Amino acid sequence: MEVAVFGGSFNPPHVGHALVTAWVLWTGQADAVWLVPCADHPLGKLGLAPFSARVRWCGELASGVGSAARVETIEDELPRPSFTIDTLRALSAAHPEHAFRLVVGADILQETHLWKDWAIDDSETSIDVRYAADDIVSHSEYRFPCIPVDAAAEILRLVGDAQVVGIDEAQFFDGTLVEVANRLADEGRRVVIAGLDQDYRGIPFEPIPALLAVAEYVTKSLAVCMVCGSPANRSQRLVQRDLRVLLGSSETYEARCRLHWDPEVFDPEQQSLPLSGA
Ligand SMILES: [Zn+2]
Repeated sequence: MEVAVFGGSFNPPHVGHALVTAWVLWTGQADAVWLVPCADHPLGKLGLAPFSARVRWCGELASGVGSAARVETIEDELPRPSFTIDTLRALSAAHPEHAFRLVVGADILQETHLWKDWAIDDSETSIDVRYAADDIVSHSEYRFPCIPVDAAAEILRLVGDAQVVGIDEAQFFDGTLVEVANRLADEGRRVVIAGLDQDYRGIPFEPIPALLAVAEYVTKSLAVCMVCGSPANRSQRLVQRDLRVLLGSSETYEARCRLHWDPEVFDPEQQSLPLSGA
């Protein structure tokens, strides 16, 4: 059985924990989810409620999700504090019949340098730490859970029996994504891909042009020019950097129409260009 280990202080457990637990089961990423409250927090988090109380709360959360979720109290028997890797090794030793997989929030990825043996060798145990729960978030704060991947080929391993596969930020993948998308579609799945068609210089952003060519349906969504309000299909980079990929938000880019877009100009004075149609 594949068991997702969901560790944390659970001080207290909240609806986000319940949603992650349900999501892991719903998407078939594991056969069971074990909530593993820490006895003492390895990074020294203070103010924890008694272990017994947090175990009881996690038990209530698990029973609300269903029979595939349960609370696991192994940390009560381990030396304190138990680092996550120690807990995972103890679980693997106690349950050799199961394969364990760690579930963490994307916020944890900011602090993995503080974790003991974060980069463990897959061959050492059957623990898989490559999956992180994460959300796609729209500008209107609509959230949808997703799984981050480093390369397009990983998608083939993750899709399971999904009938619809959504891929966002397609411009950050290499050409392999075209093969992957074709293969998924050939298998009868519906593949929905979103991505930016041009970089900040107005140059087609590979592999989007190739995806446009093989797609049955293409929808080009336009933004609103931040200068004149006309439909905008260009990204104006507001800071001068030579990198093609520069992650950022409203301070780094803004949507511009063809008239108000100029890749050579980075000065916000660009705002003073005449309004189109005025
Ligand atoms: Zn404009």
